[in-house]
Amino acid sequence: MNVNKPMYNQPNVNKTMYIELLGEIKKLRQDLNLVEFHKSRKNIHLGINCNGCGRNPLTGIRYKCLMCPNFNFCEICESNYNSSESNIVHDTKHFFVKIRNTDIYNFVCNNR
Ligand SMILES: [Zn+2]
Ligand SMILES: [Zn+2]
Repeated sequence: MNVNKPMYNQPNVNKTMYIELLGEIKKLRQDLNLVEFHKSRKNIHLGINCNGCGRNPLTGIRYKCLMCPNFNFCEICESNYNSSESNIVHDTKHFFVKIRNTDIYNFVCNNR
């Protein structure tokens, strides 16, 4: 194959092959879009709700209280929590762990 010529001018590449290749490229592009789609969904914490705003499931970065058995904040509530206007009832001396992916957290910490 002469790489300096456009593909459709190649003597050994006929139109059918060219169309097939275009189809392949289209399919690969769709697969890539799917990967991007799943990447954008990675910060959804199924089964976890935010104790500040009630968002369920919690999305974005999850902040889990290390001292309460079941207390979580979304990133918005976590940043508001440190401001004086917050009316969320929670012990301010508690620590939070920052979790991007609940699946990985559950896997590593075994639902501690
Ligand atoms: Zn929230
Ligand atoms: Zn707590």
